[in-house]
Amino acid sequence: MTEKEKEKNRGFLIDTHCHLDMSQFDADRAEVLERAKAAGVRHIVTVGSGLESSKAAVEMARSDDFSDDFIYAAVGVHPHDAKDFDDNAFETLLALARDKKTVAIGETGLDYHYMHSPKEVQIEAFRMHMDIAKETGLPLIVHSREAAEDTLRVLREYGQGGREHGGGPLRGVLHCFSGDMEMAGELVAMGFHISFAGPVTFRKSSALAGVAAWVPDDRLLIETDAPYLAPEPFRGKRNEPAYIRSTAEKIAELRGITIGDVARITSLNASRLFGMEEMPGEGVIAYPIRDSLYLNVTNRCTNNCTFCVRMKSDFVKGHMLRLRREPSAQDLEEAIGKDPRKYSEIVFCGYGEPLMRLDTVKEVAKWVKERGGRVRINTNGQGNLVHGRDILPELAGLVDSLSISLDAQDEETYGRLCKPLHKEAFRALLDFISGAVRYVPDVQVTVVETEGVDVAACRRLAGTLGVKNLRVRKLDVVG
Ligand code: SF4
Repeated sequence: MTEKEKEKNRGFLIDTHCHLDMSQFDADRAEVLERAKAAGVRHIVTVGSGLESSKAAVEMARSDDFSDDFIYAAVGVHPHDAKDFDDNAFETLLALARDKKTVAIGETGLDYHYMHSPKEVQIEAFRMHMDIAKETGLPLIVHSREAAEDTLRVLREYGQGGREHGGGPLRGVLHCFSGDMEMAGELVAMGFHISFAGPVTFRKSSALAGVAAWVPDDRLLIETDAPYLAPEPFRGKRNEPAYIRSTAEKIAELRGITIGDVARITSLNASRLFGMEEMPGEGVIAYPIRDSLYLNVTNRCTNNCTFCVRMKSDFVKGHMLRLRREPSAQDLEEAIGKDPRKYSEIVFCGYGEPLMRLDTVKEVAKWVKERGGRVRINTNGQGNLVHGRDILPELAGLVDSLSISLDAQDEETYGRLCKPLHKEAFRALLDFISGAVRYVPDVQVTVVETEGVDVAACRRLAGTLGVKNLRVRKLDVVG
């Protein structure tokens, strides 16, 4: 693992939206940046809110004397000033957008709260920013206040190519999100990211907290929007990039993960969207989530589940999992480190079916148990079918916990959702579950909340097989 990859696992933060050029930072800009670095902020996107501010953002990013890649710029004219956005402004922004330190177009969008510019004028300026985004291939940073319907309509129309001068796929982020679940759902369906700022930490923001808990891992971003909207416990003060840690902590609490997980997930998303960091070329074989360590044993599987994350992404909780080669037992032991007890459990999971590599799993599980660690295996329950024998007695004493994907209440539904390679898969799965309770102390079955799955019937079925513990997993939430 390279130093950069290790740092990524520890979790650095990226402030994807602040306004470093603003006068609120004139007295102590250098100290603000030093404090951001000390708080673990690796990159900052300083976002232009007008032509002069966009020029300042690019200049700041270019003369970034901290390191080459600490500050990046976004260029745009805020919807408040849309009335000043003419052809000259378009050309100026287009030129600024071509700078190598410019990573996004914005902030643009619609703001119907103050209505400093008429609606139609705001919409036209928004569309012109989209033209620049399309021309340069850069993502959009969108502001939307009390204008959800029009924001979605314009994005939708442009994304589908409905605009007279050409549409195109749009990538971007709705910054400082303040909308509802419906708006978030539509943005995610469109391919957009959603970024949360200080307001998610405010006490009276339970609806926003619900959205922050829901947004899929691969669409989640964080920001400060500094100097505005400082998070708790700094609310009311001037905001600055170092305070992003408070927002990250709140998001971690809402999603039931650690701040390290949030840092890794959001930094990966920001890097992919804005092109800041090189993407890893190879999958990791061991990856922490919360206080567990997951082992990526194989990418092969005997199922092709319609909801499988492998079909959609190379990443889980910010970890790249697409393997070039399968790890040996020794590779896995080295990746765990000397003391497996520092994790609450070692989980054979990955991005494929671990029991396809039974011998390796047994060898590493034995090694973990000898060192006092706890072992869990997440499996599709087809191990007996794959190996042509009852493998459960071989797991006795090596495995503390088995989590078996039941996924359906009957064979027909299982076949449709999980598309198993083996015809007898469902029958074999049921036998595996009923056998597991005899050899493994803790057995649970899981189902994914998706169309066609009758959770109550799955629970009854699990009960007849001797398993009371059924966990319902949300669609697209892994790890
Ligand atoms: S069993 Fe698991 S790894 Fe295999 S296809 Fe289904 S979800 Fe993916």
